[in-house]
Amino acid sequence: MVKFRFGRLWVIIGLICCLLAGCSENSRGNQILRVATEPAFPPFEFQGKGGELVGFSIDLMRAIADGSNFQVEFQSLPFDGIIPALQAKTIDAAISSMTITEERSKTVTFSRPYFKAGLAIAIRADHQNITGFDSLQNKKIAVQIGTTGAEKAKSLTGAQIRSFDSAPLALQELQNGNVDAVINDAPVTLYAINTGNLQGIKVIEQLLTEEFYGIATAKNSPYLSLINQGLTKILENGKYQQIYEKWFKSAPPTLPETLPFINKNTARLNSLSIFWQSLPTLLKGALGTLQLAFISGLFGLTIGSLIGIIRLSHIKSLRFLSRAYIDFWRGTPLLVQIFMIYFGLPAISQELGFTFTLNRLLAGVIALSLNSAAYIAEIVRGGIQSIEIGQSEAAKSLGLNPLQTMTYVIFPQAFRRMIPPLGNEFISLLKDTSLVAVIGFEELFRKGQLIVAENYRAFEVYAAVAIIYLCLTLISSQLFSRLEIWMNPIGKKDAKGKI
Ligand code: GLN
Repeated sequence: MVKFRFGRLWVIIGLICCLLAGCSENSRGNQILRVATEPAFPPFEFQGKGGELVGFSIDLMRAIADGSNFQVEFQSLPFDGIIPALQAKTIDAAISSMTITEERSKTVTFSRPYFKAGLAIAIRADHQNITGFDSLQNKKIAVQIGTTGAEKAKSLTGAQIRSFDSAPLALQELQNGNVDAVINDAPVTLYAINTGNLQGIKVIEQLLTEEFYGIATAKNSPYLSLINQGLTKILENGKYQQIYEKWFKSAPPTLPETLPFINKNTARLNSLSIFWQSLPTLLKGALGTLQLAFISGLFGLTIGSLIGIIRLSHIKSLRFLSRAYIDFWRGTPLLVQIFMIYFGLPAISQELGFTFTLNRLLAGVIALSLNSAAYIAEIVRGGIQSIEIGQSEAAKSLGLNPLQTMTYVIFPQAFRRMIPPLGNEFISLLKDTSLVAVIGFEELFRKGQLIVAENYRAFEVYAAVAIIYLCLTLISSQLFSRLEIWMNPIGKKDAKGKI
């Protein structure tokens, strides 16, 4: 019996081993490499019409894999998340038009260069007074977070820099007239212009930098030599040239075999120093978060109360309209609403022939207030309906009109009951402010992303961000508890113990 059990155990262990082996090697015995890319950088890496990954880098990586006899499993990641993912070893390599820089080489190891690029300034075609890098001083510039373009923009004096999650969003910002220029990789901007996706935009001919892209791997990665071998092979056998010509319609330039700083090892700062170093910047971001939450909370409460009251109106069409408002703002994702307000409204207004731009704080406040108003309206409606009918009858018998009844009798009592759910709503709102980071507003989360884009220490920085959010929400929930005690007309002492 015991022997039989052991026999079965071996079978199970054998099966598990086979399964595990199957995960990393396929039937041909090839290795499978998890390769990350940010597919929002045409013509290098982007999604084709059917949603499949296409582009120069994608073809190149597949050719390298063929050359070195391994398989590729692509994974989409935001550009600023790639280096942290390599460090965490959740991916094996990344091909994402990543420029080989000295700073990055301290954290990851690059393959030999696979593409020669450079940064270019994009401006609106009707903008005459920007002629080169120096004329960008004191101007508004959009960049993609964590890129060499963002790094270059930082060296300008007096420039206002807005960072976006992807290059297309930064270019959209330029097209909408919210910024004066975008600093981005030249081939990407040119491709967007040439394909007609970006209209009314031109590129200043003089490139700002000469850069080389490399495939990034973790430090001491066992896959680096495999990738380099494959890359060298396709550079020599003409496959590289073929792929280059397919995407760029010209012959490729010669590439250097290596760069001076391609392999650099430096000492890492300890986690605590990173935590303390990032704290002042993060606290500044927390002020932005509070600003967003308070202003939106106030507007949300005002609009929400009105809609909540209208929802109880005797007039059917008003009830229908308030219901439709709630359904729309509660039934669509806040992220989509932010994009619609910030990018969508100016774009559609331009198409209709008038120019209108929104500042990021205002766009964030509008989206958050309108969204929270929908939830608050339901809280208000519930609160009012929870007040016994006898209260309004008593008010009526005292000769109060409906408005007076609502203002002096019903609403004050209902408000007290609404405080706990309103507290919940405010805490959700406080956390939802982090979504406004997508339009480049530098609140707490965005500040964290910007620090990680520079030092690649995701864990320490995001831990600090989480702790600050936690402090903010704990303080808010304390304040709401106090408000509840304070609003309780009888038995304040009693209430204190229960809240
Ligand atoms: N080449 C630029 C960089 O490495 C931008 C890359 C990208 O956005 N995919 O920073």
